[in-house]
Amino acid sequence: MSDSNCIFCKIAAGEIPSKTLYEDDSFRVILDISPASKGHAIILPKKHAANVYELSEEDASKIFVVAKKVATAMQKVLQCDGMNILQNNGEVAGQSVFHLHVHLIPRYKDDKLTIKWTPG
Ligand code: C5P
Repeated sequence: MSDSNCIFCKIAAGEIPSKTLYEDDSFRVILDISPASKGHAIILPKKHAANVYELSEEDASKIFVVAKKVATAMQKVLQCDGMNILQNNGEVAGQSVFHLHVHLIPRYKDDKLTIKWTPG
């Protein structure tokens, strides 16, 4: 269920404090510790999965519903002009924490943010 060496397991379980924006039985959404833009948040499943290949079908079916709900609330509060919703699998794809997470990155006109994993 959870990996005792995994920092995101501990954060998702509430064992390590975080700035939580949303929580339900399966997920916790927190502010990223090193935000790419104002309001950058990450969705953490409470059940450990290193990557999308290990994610249960149940969590896979729920996680975008959470993304939509939280992104909609963030848009209203932050009045951002756009939003990148991203998820990295494997070091070569930019993954640095090996507990699956979905990034919600608010975008602002002229923010000049370069997201290195954006295609094109
Ligand atoms: O997709 P990737 O694995 O690179 O993203 C990891 C994200 O987790 C980073 O944006 C990093 O700032 C964030 N992080 C965090 N709290 C930690 C460790 C990493 O918010 N304790």
